[in-house]
Amino acid sequence: MAKILAVLYPDPVGGYPPNYARDDIPRVTGYPGGQTAPTPQAVDFNPGELLGCVSGGLGLRDFLESRGDTFVVTSDKEGPDSTLDRELADADVVISQPFWPAYLTAERIDAAPRLRLAITAGIGSDHVDLPSAIAHDMTVAEVTYSNSISVAEHAVMQILTLVHDYMPAHEWVTSKKGWNIADSVSRSYDIEGMDIGVLGAGRIGQAVLRRLKPFDVRLHYHDVHRLPEEVEEELGLIWHPDPQSLAAAVDVLSIHTPLHPQTQNLFDEELIGAMKRGSYIVNTARALIVDRDAVVRALESGQLAGYAGDVWYPQPPPEDHPWRTMPHEAMTPHVSGSTLSAQARYAAGAREILECWLDGRPIRQEYLIVEGGGLAGSGARSYTVAG
Ligand code: NAP
Repeated sequence: MAKILAVLYPDPVGGYPPNYARDDIPRVTGYPGGQTAPTPQAVDFNPGELLGCVSGGLGLRDFLESRGDTFVVTSDKEGPDSTLDRELADADVVISQPFWPAYLTAERIDAAPRLRLAITAGIGSDHVDLPSAIAHDMTVAEVTYSNSISVAEHAVMQILTLVHDYMPAHEWVTSKKGWNIADSVSRSYDIEGMDIGVLGAGRIGQAVLRRLKPFDVRLHYHDVHRLPEEVEEELGLIWHPDPQSLAAAVDVLSIHTPLHPQTQNLFDEELIGAMKRGSYIVNTARALIVDRDAVVRALESGQLAGYAGDVWYPQPPPEDHPWRTMPHEAMTPHVSGSTLSAQARYAAGAREILECWLDGRPIRQEYLIVEGGGLAGSGARSYTVAG
């Protein structure tokens, strides 16, 4: 019998379940490129339910307990006395979401002798120390594509929010009870005619480019692998050989690469300084891809006109994290990939991965990040490890 430890975000302050705004969600069975949505043998939840919090339990409790497995769910993940640290000692599987990451550091992996599998219910497994997972012959898997479109929609929304300067205008009518048109429009622009770039034209990056095309903008991108010529032609894409050339060419830059040694701290003072004055950055990838304090300084000096995103470090961030109070931001907590629509897919994907692993069947290649002592599947294409 296996012990599965899920580290999930706390329940809503108003209690569980919440009052849902809608009765159902559209059924998505596949993604661009032909990959199918998760195909577990069954699920024990109604799509559209809040599954990512402790009481939601990713809809896995009945399945696991009916098999005789132990299923422990907690949101308590910080510090040496945390439930995560205590329960990790004899856990076989850890499931966590990037929105409330269980940071599986090298020390934690060393302290978890039975740990064989880390599942990311979502996308992005940088919260797992991948070199340690490789050294311990663990499997790391994530639910590729499950929330890519959710994030792409959020990124487009944040690009429009920043450029139109939506946040201060909203504040004028709500908390300030005013009608200050001049104040509200003094930093407000259209994206029409702008140069917009995407760093990392993978699943999310390409979905952002496709969604932006009808806005009559010039679209740019940089990726380690250039997209097929027909895709570049269809979307009218301008390719850049490196992030520096991309950053210097655009008015708005949206970041969509994984966090790994090549991308960590890429947007430092120098690269942000090489952008046009008044550029915007939207980062729904990972916070550590940008230099936290360089972003704040650039917003204060006017080098950046705005910064938005939903990814922070650490998560949750401390109350005095400077991004909570910097000017010209449109930040959210890490929510873009955890819409109720996305949760139905990544909960089903976590179940599919567990079913395979518990039955000794192979996990889909596209879900694999680490397996067999090295990067594998999607991880072998998009990640690097230092050393
Ligand atoms: P993906 O399909 O693997 O796309 C990532 C792209 O980045 C790939 O095309 C990859 O290139 C490219 N890339 C990797 N390293 C690069 C580098 N050094 N320079 C330029 N391009 C590089 O992944 P995805 O589904 O689009 O997700 C991307 C990231 O978004 C995830 O890793 C995660 O960190 C983040 N994410 C955030 C949320 C959220 O809720 N905010 C949700 C999901 C994902 P090749 O594959 O061509 O080598």
